[in-house]
Amino acid sequence: MDHHTAYHDLIDGFKNVRLLESIGALVGWDQHTYMPVKGAGHRAEQMGYLAKLGHEKLTAPAIGQLLGELERAAATDEIERVNVREIRRVYNRAVKMPSKLVEEIARTVSQAQNIWAEARKKNDFPSFAPWLDKIVTLKREEATAVGYKDSPYDALLDEYEPGATTAEITRVFAELRADLIPLVAAIAASGKKPRKDILTREFAVDRQHMFGQAAAAAIGFDFQAGRLDTTVHPFCSGIGPGDCRLTTRYHPRELNQGLFGILHEAGHGIYEQGLDTTHFGTPAGSFASLGIHESQSRLWENQVGRGRPFWEHFLPRLQQTFPGTLDEITIDEFIFAANNVEKSFIRVEADEATYNMHIILRFELEQALMCGDLKPSDVPGAWNEKFHHMLDLTPPNDAQGCLQDIHWSMGGLGYFPTYTLGNLYAAQFMQQARQDLGDLDGDFRAGQFGRLKGWLNDKIHRPGQRYRAGELCRRVTGQALSHKPLIAYLRQKYGPLYGI
Ligand code: ZN
Repeated sequence: MDHHTAYHDLIDGFKNVRLLESIGALVGWDQHTYMPVKGAGHRAEQMGYLAKLGHEKLTAPAIGQLLGELERAAATDEIERVNVREIRRVYNRAVKMPSKLVEEIARTVSQAQNIWAEARKKNDFPSFAPWLDKIVTLKREEATAVGYKDSPYDALLDEYEPGATTAEITRVFAELRADLIPLVAAIAASGKKPRKDILTREFAVDRQHMFGQAAAAAIGFDFQAGRLDTTVHPFCSGIGPGDCRLTTRYHPRELNQGLFGILHEAGHGIYEQGLDTTHFGTPAGSFASLGIHESQSRLWENQVGRGRPFWEHFLPRLQQTFPGTLDEITIDEFIFAANNVEKSFIRVEADEATYNMHIILRFELEQALMCGDLKPSDVPGAWNEKFHHMLDLTPPNDAQGCLQDIHWSMGGLGYFPTYTLGNLYAAQFMQQARQDLGDLDGDFRAGQFGRLKGWLNDKIHRPGQRYRAGELCRRVTGQALSHKPLIAYLRQKYGPLYGI
């Protein structure tokens, strides 16, 4: 077989795997938005079957033969080199996973998600505990099957953040934590607090939806190629070219949740929509890592969406959307309220400064679960103890403690660190964008976000998986990942607000 044919056969085979995954993503989206409760059992069958089929196609001997053949003759084309390298990575991981284990994980987590949703609603950890136990056991089997050098946790991390290690993340997180603690303490000691009533007035949900949709469109999410629906736990799902689904949740008396949730998911969506569609279904047309994905959501939600220039444009529009609700509020009062720093229980509602503490806690508990130091049934106690130690608070119940996140029920151990990696990358990218593009704040004040979006499209989105996250960061910013840009950004933001 000639080289050219071998490459095309490999790409065809791999695209079929990605097509199956995108069908899985679509039925998964449906499960979290419109599926009737009683459909759960059948949906689990569908998801399990799709996962099994995808795994069979990915691990077909032909894929391995084609990879071997292509690797023997070094490719001259860059795209081809990237695709062969990254398909090899995914293939190696997959062939080490027994097909039965893949199917069992898929079937288990599909059901566990529904059990978790009920348990969270009823604040009933014991009903979820056996499922968590099963998931941890399966993930340990996965780590053993995939293999690892130092820690079983590395094997899980690698799925979300290729190339990242537990040791390296532990180091960056420790540096971040060391600088965050005095910052949060200084804020608390300032005694300054924003008005609490501003974001907790009556905000009709349909109007929140309207405003959120308009804001997402303004920053560059294309609603001809996507949509926005409601769910319990917000997410963004890139189904494929021209189809990206955002979800959010609304509270009629909490503007924060829906509004900033939408900006966050729209940031993910803009990344998905910015991928090179000519390479759909191949690594060159896929996102680099979950940490990089999260950097895009954090960048729009926080770096842009919680900034003063953004609200100089949007506050008058928000006031018009909710007539008589925010009429007397000044931009200063609004900005302060939107950037309130306060230790709290719920990760997704945490401010930018304390958020990373929530992640470090989960990162440590997950490692303990994986190496067997912590029994799943003991999670609530361990959670509350750590929470008290790190954030000086004790969760009043498990719904506001260890049951708050969907991730473990999805089998997503190893996923949480990517959130803080996202915060770090977002700050580092934004620092560079401001250097490259000049007066971005002037753009935002005028409601213009196209230059920033274009920069992100060029530098981060279109490269796909050409570079691993660490290398992408070095190429875009000239520096390795560091906690310093995030700390500098937080100090610059909170300095004037809290007089510190
Ligand atoms: Zn996100």
